[in-house]
Amino acid sequence: MGTSSSKKLRKTPLKLIHPPLRILTVERTYPKKKINLNNKCIRCNKLIEEPKFQITRNVRICRKCYNKKMEEQKKYMIVYLSNLKFEADEIFDNLYLGNEGSSFLKNDLKKLGITNIIIIGYYLYKFYPNDFDYKIIEVDDDESEDILQYFIPVIIYFLNSKGKCFIHCQAGMSRSASFTIAIVMFIKKLNFQNAYDYVLKRRKIICPNFGFIEQLKEFDEMLYLINYNIKFLQPMHNILFEGDDF
Ligand SMILES: [Zn+2]
Repeated sequence: MGTSSSKKLRKTPLKLIHPPLRILTVERTYPKKKINLNNKCIRCNKLIEEPKFQITRNVRICRKCYNKKMEEQKKYMIVYLSNLKFEADEIFDNLYLGNEGSSFLKNDLKKLGITNIIIIGYYLYKFYPNDFDYKIIEVDDDESEDILQYFIPVIIYFLNSKGKCFIHCQAGMSRSASFTIAIVMFIKKLNFQNAYDYVLKRRKIICPNFGFIEQLKEFDEMLYLINYNIKFLQPMHNILFEGDDF
């Protein structure tokens, strides 16, 4: 009884490097996506290997056809995007939020000092893989889309980026705005409403869909619980087990 190893075990501080997010959640109120495993690709009619892979609420395509379609569309997209105006709103001095067109305008991105690009969505291109480091999160602007699971990976990516990040979806209004709010919540330790206002002040057109707002509120609760655990439970834990050998 009471070997030094068990004592050591008890005194191990509560480290929440990868917080068990799902465990901390309350019941989710926004609609969940129902995945039909028997869905077939709209192009090749083969069974989709990645069951989650879908472009819009009802249209599904396999990874192979998706990549092919991306290649086919690229030249048209370049013409379309090159006519769009560059717009990227500064959220922090190392984080900019904007639209898809801006992701094509390399010189403007370089002028801002952008080194990393976070893409949130489908049919969005990594135009300059030699010039920027990319992270893609494939989600649809659909309120049943589960984006909560990607908040922490995107925050980690942002924190690990050496220079400046440009985050975008198509319009820079719903998807990428939601991820930006999550980043602001985490970094600035703001609750959802304050983080939303913080981003809105810097980009007037943000407009996350209802499902995303629900998930941001849920993320808010998780962050609160994690901070609560770290602030209050850890010292208590240490006091309780300090020197005890029972
Ligand atoms: Zn296919």
